Amino acid sequence: MAIQRTFSIIKPDATERNLTGAVNAVIEAAGLRIVAQKRILMSRREAETFYGVHRERPFFGELVDFMTSGPVVVQVLEGENAVLRYREVMGATNPANAEEGTIRKKFARSIGENSVHGSDSEENAAIEIAQFFSGNEIVG
Ligand code: ATP
Ligand code: MG
Repeated sequence: MAIQRTFSIIKPDATERNLTGAVNAVIEAAGLRIVAQKRILMSRREAETFYGVHRERPFFGELVDFMTSGPVVVQVLEGENAVLRYREVMGATNPANAEEGTIRKKFARSIGENSVHGSDSEENAAIEIAQFFSGNEIVG
């Protein structure tokens, strides 16, 4: 299996509870390497662009409010089959359905405040990484 990169966000519900290190420990224990990371405040415009695919969904406004409500940590993760691997490590969108040991099972508060984002395809990973990082900020 090829080495891939994926894009991750530690969301405001997790940074608020000082869980950045705890989330990173799960990521690293799963064999993924954090090759870029920064803590930012997302603008409304950035959040609307990032989640543009959900623009017509009823929860879109709530999602943008949440993602801009506090600091987030944006990351690039690298490893074997990283896109799918990180989706497994995150667990289901709704923590009530997430497997034991996953980040969302351990930490998420609800389907909205679910602690982490991970890209859902290699193509989207490349787009999302480029939205937040320049090449020289990623050190593999
Ligand atoms: P993400 O894209 O953040 O990794 P995901 O791919 O598991 O999550 P999506 O369907 O892409 O899930 O939804 C994006 C985000 O929108 C979810 O992570 C969650 O924060 C929010 N969301 C999704 N469904 C709902 C809902 N029914 N009510 C409130 N918020 C929701
Ligand atoms: Mg998604």
